[in-house]
Amino acid sequence: MSDDPIATDTPTTEGLAILRRCLAKLSFAGMGLDRELDKRLESLRQAVRKEQSPEELQAEVEAITTILMQMEDAAARAAKVEPDYAGLLARLAEMAQGSAAKSVRSLRREVDGLPSEQQGEATVAGLAKLLAGGGLLSRLFGNKAADQAPGPGEAQTLAAPAVLEPVARLLAQLSLPEIYQERLAQLRQRGEAGLPVTQLPELIESIVDLVLDASSDDQTRLEAFLLTLNQRLEQVYQFLATTTSTQNQDAQDCAQLDRSLRDQVQDMQDSLRDATSLDQLKHTVEARLNAILSSVGQFKSGQDERRGVLQAQVAQLENQLRVMETESNHLRQTLVEQRHRALTDVLTGVPNRTAYLERLEQEYARLRRYRSPLTLSVMDIDHFKRVNDQYGHAAGDAVLKSVARLLQGGLRKSDFLARYGGEEFVILMPETSLADATKAVNKLRLAIQNRMIEAAGQGLAVTASFGVADFREGDTTAEVFSRADKAMYRAKERGRNQVCCELPRNGTEGEV
Ligand code: GH3
Ligand code: MG
Ligand code: MG
Repeated sequence: MSDDPIATDTPTTEGLAILRRCLAKLSFAGMGLDRELDKRLESLRQAVRKEQSPEELQAEVEAITTILMQMEDAAARAAKVEPDYAGLLARLAEMAQGSAAKSVRSLRREVDGLPSEQQGEATVAGLAKLLAGGGLLSRLFGNKAADQAPGPGEAQTLAAPAVLEPVARLLAQLSLPEIYQERLAQLRQRGEAGLPVTQLPELIESIVDLVLDASSDDQTRLEAFLLTLNQRLEQVYQFLATTTSTQNQDAQDCAQLDRSLRDQVQDMQDSLRDATSLDQLKHTVEARLNAILSSVGQFKSGQDERRGVLQAQVAQLENQLRVMETESNHLRQTLVEQRHRALTDVLTGVPNRTAYLERLEQEYARLRRYRSPLTLSVMDIDHFKRVNDQYGHAAGDAVLKSVARLLQGGLRKSDFLARYGGEEFVILMPETSLADATKAVNKLRLAIQNRMIEAAGQGLAVTASFGVADFREGDTTAEVFSRADKAMYRAKERGRNQVCCELPRNGTEGEV
């Protein structure tokens, strides 16, 4: 395998996509180290975004590699430069006076004789020793009175340009915040006007104090400011974390926001690098932060809007579902009622012929599966035409209702009664032998016979004839019905108000 997969291998489309994503991610890791490198990394990201060819990507990577190597060389060179401690002490000795100059010269000799890696520590330790006796600056540049009596004009001697030069340069370089400008201007004036050497230490100490004041104050302000910045960014990231984890549909907007935030942070980094004063820095960072918050605000309001629309859609859907549920319940209820009506005889309230045919099929299927007994009885009211004729149709209806009630009341729950048509009823008796069914039917017959039925304001005596047949091996429903019907007609023929049945197995009819 080659060391350079982009140039020589032919990765799959998916592999290429992964490589592209890795490159884009790695490019962020190197940001902020070097301006030139940052530019090349941005160029690499653009190349990844535009899905440029592997060859073009490789050119970007090579350019970055070159910059990284240059940076490494520069870092190595910088590491090799040793501070010139002896030179520093020599310069200090030149500027110092009296015993201080002697002490510094002796320290310089001491440091010079040491191996280079020990020189830094020895210099710092030696200077610290000198400092221990009082203000270093006073000891170095102090009034000669401390060591030797000054001449009468000596106190008035102006500091040599060689000594004043670094002071002037330091003053020129200081770019302190507004509130220190007045103190700085005074110090500049003193430095520019020239001053006695004896006042030089005090001037330098004033400058040092000013810088220390300013920097410690800057530090506080900067820290407070960074704290606020951090808190705000924390809010932003917390919000983003929650949003990105819960709202997949916002992925695109999140990506857009992410790009925008990265751009803003990049700009902020540039500004931080270029800033020449704390105020400018603060102003720039605040402006960037506001831009970031505005991006987030836009994103959030877009998201809220979408969520609102979504919630409204969900509410609407829920509403529609509720309506549909109510409708379907209503429909189901209607269907149940319709079915009940379709299967019920309007006059008597018992199941009608359709219901009977349905039930007959069910019982027949059960019989064939379990070979359990099933008996069928056909019943017809005797001389019913006379009732209608003598007492009117309404009286006939009343008789039909009462007979249906009597029949229903005399049957078991497992039995099934239906009005077959006119004044004819049919009864299915599952799990009942022909003999038992005949007995049960005879009880029904007696119940009708013995009940005076209220109709047309009087008690009417009504009788009925029954035929009974049971299901035998190989029988169809029609055959059994036919035999029961024939038996019923025989009962009529034999004088009515009686039960006729087919006796089991021998094929002969019986009579109760
Ligand atoms: P049989 O003993 O031979 O059965 O004589 P029947 O009079 O009962 O028989 P037929 O078939 O001659 O008469 C049946 C009558 O039943 C005729 C019909 O008008 C009457 N009928 C049928 N359905 C209804 C109904 O719903 N209400 C009323 N009131 N009468 C009905
Ligand atoms: Mg009839
Ligand atoms: Mg009849």
